[in-house]
Parts: sequence; C-alpha cells; structure tokens
Amino acid sequence: MPFQDQEAPRPQQHEPEQQAQDTQPSENRAGTSAKDLEISFRNHMTHTVGRPLENSSILDQYHALAAVVRDRMMDQWLETIENYKQHNVRVLGYLSAEYLLGPHLENALLNLDLRPQMEEALKNVGLDLATIAAEEPEPGLGNGGLGRLAACFMDSLSTLDVPVLGYGLRYEFGIFRQEIVDGWQVEKSDKWLQYGNPWEIGASTSYEVCFFGHTETYNDDQGLLRHRWVPEHTVKGIPYDTPIPGYQTRTVNRLRLWKAAAVDSFDLSIFNSGDYMGAVRQKMESETISKVLYPPDEQIQGKRLRLMQQYFFTSCSLQDMLRLHCMRGEKLSTFHEKWTIQLNDTHPSIGIPELMRLLMDNHNFSWDDAWNVTQKTFGYTNHTLLPEALERWPLDLFGGLLPRHLEIIYEINERFLDDMRSRYPNDDARMRRMSIIGEEGERSVQMAKLAVIGSKAINGVAELHTQLLEQDTLHDYYETFPERFSNKTNGVTPRRWLMLSNPCLVDLINETIGTRWHKDLYGLRGLEHFADDKNFLARWRQAQEGCKSSLAKYISQNLSITVDPASMFDVHVKRIHEYKRQHLKALHILSLYCQIKNGTLKNPTPTTYLFGGKAAPSYVMAKLMIKLVCSVADLVNNDPATRDVMKVVFLPNYSVSLGQHIYPAADLSEQISTAGKEASGTGCMKMMMNGAVTIGTLDGANIEIRKECGEENFFLFGLTAPQIADTLHAGYQPRAYYERSPLLKEVMDGITSGRFFGGNSATFAPLVDNLLSWDPFFVLADFDSYDTVHTQVSDAYRDTNAWGRMSLLNTARSGKFSSDRTIREYCRDIWKLPVG
Ligand SMILES: *Cc1c(COP(=O)(O)O)cnc(C)c1O
Repeated sequence: MPFQDQEAPRPQQHEPEQQAQDTQPSENRAGTSAKDLEISFRNHMTHTVGRPLENSSILDQYHALAAVVRDRMMDQWLETIENYKQHNVRVLGYLSAEYLLGPHLENALLNLDLRPQMEEALKNVGLDLATIAAEEPEPGLGNGGLGRLAACFMDSLSTLDVPVLGYGLRYEFGIFRQEIVDGWQVEKSDKWLQYGNPWEIGASTSYEVCFFGHTETYNDDQGLLRHRWVPEHTVKGIPYDTPIPGYQTRTVNRLRLWKAAAVDSFDLSIFNSGDYMGAVRQKMESETISKVLYPPDEQIQGKRLRLMQQYFFTSCSLQDMLRLHCMRGEKLSTFHEKWTIQLNDTHPSIGIPELMRLLMDNHNFSWDDAWNVTQKTFGYTNHTLLPEALERWPLDLFGGLLPRHLEIIYEINERFLDDMRSRYPNDDARMRRMSIIGEEGERSVQMAKLAVIGSKAINGVAELHTQLLEQDTLHDYYETFPERFSNKTNGVTPRRWLMLSNPCLVDLINETIGTRWHKDLYGLRGLEHFADDKNFLARWRQAQEGCKSSLAKYISQNLSITVDPASMFDVHVKRIHEYKRQHLKALHILSLYCQIKNGTLKNPTPTTYLFGGKAAPSYVMAKLMIKLVCSVADLVNNDPATRDVMKVVFLPNYSVSLGQHIYPAADLSEQISTAGKEASGTGCMKMMMNGAVTIGTLDGANIEIRKECGEENFFLFGLTAPQIADTLHAGYQPRAYYERSPLLKEVMDGITSGRFFGGNSATFAPLVDNLLSWDPFFVLADFDSYDTVHTQVSDAYRDTNAWGRMSLLNTARSGKFSSDRTIREYCRDIWKLPVG
C-alpha cells in the first residue's frame, strides 16, 4: 500500500540520503496526516514555487497547495492506468468540445477526503484554506450546460470506477469574463493559464493532424486501387492530462486536452534569411486552433476555424485510442470491442469519417470492414432541438478543409440512401429528408444526420426531449431503427453541487440520516421521515439562511446592494437566451412594481430576485435582456415604495464557482423556458438538491422533477409543448394577449413610454416590438399564467412550515438527478461497461 497508516510510527525518520543540514523530517508525499500535509506544503513552497513562506503571495500559496494535493493523487493515477492495462478492460472515450470543470482544489480535497487535515495543516502555518482556494482561476472551457454535463460525467465515471479517457481541447482562453458596465454586458478575455496550471501533466506523445490539399487514387503493392489524401498543412497535437479523482475510491481517471502547435515551431532557414516574422508565422497560425473557445453564435456554422478545432481534437483523440489499442497487442478489427466512443453533441461527429479514413487509408481496411468497426464504436448524444443550433457546414468550406472526409461522407450517404431506397421504394421526399447532404439553400453537410447514421446508439437528455427527437426532429431515422434510440436524463454530481457547495445543509443531513447517500443519492429519501418535524424544519431553514446570508454578504461586498436574507430568494441563473425567457421574469417584476405603486398589491412577500448568466457576444437580443434586467434593478432598488420589499440583482460573470455560491441560497428555482425548447436543463437539478422549490413549465427535466417531488411540491404554469405547437399552427397573435391583459398592457406600455426608465423609450423598443409582433418564444402567451402562479408562490412562502416541508421533500426526492444514475444507465444500455 502506498498509503501509510496515519497512526503507525514512521520508521524512516532518518533516511540515509537525507542531507545532514535538513532539519525537516522526511517527507511522505502520499501521507495524509495534518503533519504530513504541512511538511509537504513547506517543501513545495521551497522546491516547487521557490519562495520563502513569509514572503509568499496567496497565488504562491495556491500553487504550493495544489502541488500537495496533486502528490496525493499520483499513486492512484498510476495504479488506475496499470489496473486498466492488467485487466485489459473495455474503455470509454468521451469526446466533448467543452468541459466546464470549475475549480479543482476543493473538489479534489473532498473526493480524496483530505479537507479537515488540510485545514489544520494550513492553520499550523498561519494560513486559511478558503482564502487560498479563492485564488484558483476557474478553467472555463465551456459555455454552459453541455460543458458542465461533461464535467459532472467525469466525476461520476471516476466515482463509479468506470475506465474512461475524456478528450477535448485545451483552449488557451476559455469562456469570456463578463463585466456589467452601465447595465450592458462587456466581454473580457479569460487568461486562465497565465500563471500556469498546476493540475495538468504533460505527456510525451504527440500526433499530426492535416488540413486542406486534395485527394488522389493510386495502385498499391497488390495493384489495388486506393484513395489517399495529399494535405497541404499539418499541425501537431500535444496532450495535457488532468487527473480526475473519484469520490472515496482509488480510481483517478484522465482528462486529456489537446493543444495545437506547429510541426516545426521555428523555421531556421527562413529566420536566417532575415524574414523574422515569416519564421514565427507558421507557429502562430498553428497555435490559433486551440487559442479560444467559441461562444455560441448564430454564424458559427460558417467559421472554418471552428471546424478546424473540431477535427483537430477529434483526430488527435482517435489516433491516441488506436495507438493505445495496438499497444495492448490488439488487432484494429477488434477496436469496437475494447473501446466505445461517446459524442457529446455533434461537435466531434467528424470522428465517424475520420475513423473510416484512418482504418481504410492508413491500415488498408476494406470499406465494409471499416464501417463494421466504426458503426459499432460510436454513440451520439443530441443536446438541442433548436434548428439554428443543429450544425451544418457549407460543402465548399468543408471540402476545402477536409477533402478526403467529404469523399467518405458522400460514400456513407450513397450507401445509406441505397439501403433506404430498397426499404422505402419511390419515396423521394423521404430520401431528401434523410440525406446527410442538405439541399435547401446553400448545400451543406448536416452533422446530426451523419452522427445518427454512423452510431450504434442515439440518445436525448430528458424524457420529453427524447420523445420530440423520435417523433419529430429525427423521426425518419427512429422509424427505421427504433432500437438505436433511448433516453438518458441528465444528472449533476452531488459531490460538487451539494457536498462542496452547501456544507451547512450537508452537516445536518449527515447527522440526520448518515452518509450512505454520498454514493447513492436515492438515500436522501430517508429525510422524508422528518417532513412534519417542526424542530427539524427549523434547523433546515437555519441552514438555508446561512447560505443566503453568505450570498447576501457577497452581493453587498461586490455590488453594494443590500439584500435581506430573510426575504425569498427567487433565482434565475443560466445562459441568457430568449427561449430561457429572462425577459418573462423581468416583465413580471415590473408588473409587481406597478401593483405596489398603485396600491393594488397590499402586503407583498419580501423577495430578492437574482439573475445571472452570459449572453453570446453577437446575440443582440440577449444582451438587451441583460440591460432590461439591470434597468429594472435600478428602478425597484431605488424607489422608496418598493426597495424595502423587493430587490433585483444581476450577478456578473456567472460561472461554476459563482454557481456553487448561488444554488444553495435559492428558495425558488426559475425554470421558465418555452415548453419544448429546453432539452433538459441541469441548473434545475442543482437547485432541487439544495432544497429549492421549482416554478416551471412542462419542459425538459422539469417534467421529471415534478414527477419525482410530487405535483404539490412544484409550481407549474404555462402552455405545454403540444399547446405551443397548436397555438403556432392556429396563427399566434401576441398582440391579442397584450390587449386582453390589463397588467401586461400596463407593463408593456410603461416600457414603451419610458415611464419606468427615466423617459428613455428607445433602448427597449426592439425588444417590445419583437414581443408584440412575433414573440417566437410565447412570452406574452404565458405571462398571465406565470403571474397567477407567482401569487400562489408568494402566499406559500409565508407559511414557513409548509414551505420548509416542500423544500425538504425536494431535496429528499432528488436522488434521480445524480449524474451517477445517468452514468449507470449509459454504462448498462450504450457503453456495455461494468460499474464499480
Ligand atoms: C449548471 C450550469 C449551467 C446549466 O444551467 P441550466 O439552468 O441548465 O441552463 C450553466 N452554466 C453553469 C456555470 C452551470 O453550473
């Protein structure tokens, strides 16, 4: 055992190699006692950071501390790899363009069970763990839910001892940092790597990835006609590994992120000829590929660099998996038996023609043999039904960059359509619908169709979403091979989202029902016994108020706004998007403002409305929605008639670490997307676990949350997905709702006239016009229903015990939404992997 028993006397107090002048006791780099950790910390401060402790900055201390924690993972890390090798296990390759990991330090301390000793060790040298941890820059290598899902999955995979290699891109600049200036979003670059990243481990392998050029045919040694790609440009992919420790297990899996570099970083002959800039140009151009994370953007489809990123990381990852497979002494024809690859959305779906190319062009496979391996290897997770988000690449852009892949895609398509023609004779419309090549408008490669045709399994991320995929978006394929489709409702890791972010509540839960729930979240059901215990509910509320006070302090310190921790915290945090309807919430707050001002709302329930989220930099309407929220905040926070009963706060730079602070403080979870638009949502699950009650539409995971917690513990409003479809079909007239609802009319008119915003009527005109004339997300149609249900919420909140009961039951019944459950389902149904 590399771990030494903490109590056992340590025999090597004076190792022979120890320097005589070294007064410190010998270091045990895997030791976990407070004393071991302290010695290790002092050593890393000297030998890794190179600074005297007395003169060290908090950043120095963070780097020394990270090194201490990393040391404690390394034996397990090597052991895990060795273990997989010895048992020749089947491995999951998880391909995702995004990983929204959040800070590592405290998560690693939790999963390795080191926190109390570490706190003590630091106290002994006069330092505070929380202060140092706050110094960690967040690796923001994702935009929102999709990237966060990949991060939660990695935590669950390690916790459940599932062999996985996570693959992605090591963006030098992650998601932008958001500042709010005069109510408007301003984007600042995220230099998360500028002081180095102590969590990553360089590897000695690298791969070459090619672009551009042309294809040709030739005769091989046996005189067979073969195809090959003659590329014009090559870059190198260099892997950086991040250890992902499971919770209370020895498994430490690998997240392997690729950095792009020039094949020859410096061309000396060009340099010697005096062309200094020319000599570094190639290096710069190559490195551009992993420079920056793309924010979601309507125009993203036309961006060649984005397709280069996708191909770059997918090709590196596949080459890596093929190499590891061969190193195990296996034949490539058994690749699909030893590996299963999951595509987190279509971003890595170029992997399908890439695996075909590698097998055929580099390893002499026939088409049929290559297809047999490829099609049995991949699984595809769809994340969205929004048509503008389904990836499609113009043919000339695609063919220019990846000519050989386009050829292969044509052939996949031809063979597939031949097959379909024999199944569905004389059905040209269907053939057009099922073709990978889209013919409407500019001809394009439709990546979702490629992913469906090239995968053994296709899944949606919540029950409703999967149903809509099967019945609508992917209906033709579902009809043809229904057995490939399944649902895998998303989940979130309870380690980060409950245990790490809400220690007060967790202490109470542990004390009440023990700790079995840490690895089986259904164990939280034990709390149901206390739902009518008034004393317990008082303690429950006290724990929640602790979180609310802490967030109130953050708001006061960072935004100079005073909020009352006893008020109801009504929380709407997520990406800013019209379908998520932050503007519905803003309109509702304005309607309350009007009613308080004109005296029709007598005794309002004191409420703090919290918003947070980033808008895509090019998404003008989303940025206007942020401005609207900030303007509403200025109005109600400063009006003497309202400021004591309502506060509105926009929290800038919503991120994982800020989320950890916000979710536990929520009383009410706002999940108010237009029904049928939110594939799943995971923010809703984080809040449910922490005891928030949801107000929501019948959309995404809300439906399943309501089923789990019970209708009586959920506030439902709004049109359903079929009603939305019917309303649209009948010809939706948003203006009719405006004419019919006096409350809505007053709010809309107040914005238009400038009454609320100091006479400014111009700023929000585009938003008002959009809602009145088109309203693609049915804000006006759902307004009255939302208002009515909010009145019920406010009344319910006043009954402290009844609310506490609802809150407790939400936590108690949140077991389904652990990503451990999700991962178990993927392992059982798609990956065919045993779970530890
Ligand atoms: C959970 C999470 C999301 C996803 O939130 P939704 O409410 O599901 O849209 C986005 N960003 C961050 C930082 C998160 O932690």
